[in-house]
Amino acid sequence: MTTLEDCRARDAADPLAPLKDLFNLPEGVIYLDGNSLGALPRAVPARVAQVVAHEWGRDLIQSWNSAGWFDLPRRVGDKIAPLMGAGPGEVVAADTTSINLYKVLSAALNVAAQDAPGRRTIVSERSNFPTDLYIAEALCRERGCTLKLVEPHEIAASLDADVAVLMLTHVNYRTGAMHDMTAVTAAAHAAGALMVWDLCHSVGAVPVDLTGAGADYAVGCGYKYLNGGPGAPAFVWVHPRHVDRFWQPLAGWWGHAAPFAFTPDYQPAAGITRFQCGTQPIVSLSALDCALDVFAEAEKFGGMAALRDKSLALTDLFIELVEQWCPGQFELVTPREHVRRGSQVCLTPTAQLPVGSAYAVVQALIGRGVIGDFRAGDGQQPDILRFGFTPLYLSYENVFLSAQALRDVLLNKEYALPQFNRKLAVT
Ligand SMILES: *Cc1c(COP(=O)(O)O)cnc(C)c1O
Repeated sequence: MTTLEDCRARDAADPLAPLKDLFNLPEGVIYLDGNSLGALPRAVPARVAQVVAHEWGRDLIQSWNSAGWFDLPRRVGDKIAPLMGAGPGEVVAADTTSINLYKVLSAALNVAAQDAPGRRTIVSERSNFPTDLYIAEALCRERGCTLKLVEPHEIAASLDADVAVLMLTHVNYRTGAMHDMTAVTAAAHAAGALMVWDLCHSVGAVPVDLTGAGADYAVGCGYKYLNGGPGAPAFVWVHPRHVDRFWQPLAGWWGHAAPFAFTPDYQPAAGITRFQCGTQPIVSLSALDCALDVFAEAEKFGGMAALRDKSLALTDLFIELVEQWCPGQFELVTPREHVRRGSQVCLTPTAQLPVGSAYAVVQALIGRGVIGDFRAGDGQQPDILRFGFTPLYLSYENVFLSAQALRDVLLNKEYALPQFNRKLAVT
């Protein structure tokens, strides 16, 4: 049985423990929602203040050159690239995940139309994050293509001769289940389809190797495990073998070969630059740029491999303690197998708890300073309590105290209190 003292000893021996000091976390809060909105890196407020006061306030429009604003999407892309096995000059940070997905899916359909004419289906998982499905649905309507949604175990069998693109999220947002990127990409290619990965719940949380896997396209989020702040720009990667073959559909001036020539016709820039569209939110992009320095610092302590080891140790510990302290009250939704687990633990209440209590359990935990979140079920999918474990700033003691708080919420039936049953707009 793991004790609080054991956890403190593990923290004392944890080589990654100093990274916590790179973040500003409120006193008395254990933050298990870094998979939804990453915490604030300590260096970001000063950087944002400097961008606003000096770069904007004093240097004004010159900052496009003098502060490097115009190149910032590519420089930030180069900082993200090593976290996912992409090369320099292959990634830009821009727009949102939804928008970038639209660009890459459209580009992928163009490549497929040339290389494998007649293939007109995009396959994805029914439990993918909804915006991914909505974007694919809208694009399919526009192009006269079909979006086919399947369960995870049906993916391999669904890859028939109509499939142009397989679009998957590497780590599922509801369950924390992780795909084998190399195997799934190989299966898509063997079936003649292109592979698009959404890395929103992977990048900065688990090691990713897009190049090693031979993937075709990837998108992902700047405000989750990359800690770029609310609404931080997302990123987009295209394998060099495809990047110059077609325009992307949102062919704005930032993707032009010579934007300041102001010609009336479009000439795409070479490489990933053409996946830019228009003017980017520089203040927000600067915050993300600064936040990414945390990962450069983490390199000194073993980088993503060490972060992954700690993430698995944290999630293992949480699972062990919940099963010990809340026996029979939750079912584990996240895979136990390490190779199939992302950096989160998701639980669904069993019949031992009142129907519909998952939301109130999460609210009661928040009342105790343990911040996780709730994702509603829909008849097919169960209600979920979701806990994200960011190895950059969480300790073993944090995990112990979180599981203890969960035990106490159940023991005291705090989920029955009216203040924890009021639904908020954002869960
Ligand atoms: C968080 C998330 C998004 C968010 O998309 P936005 O366009 O940035 O709002 C998209 N897809 C997945 C899988 C996500 O987890």
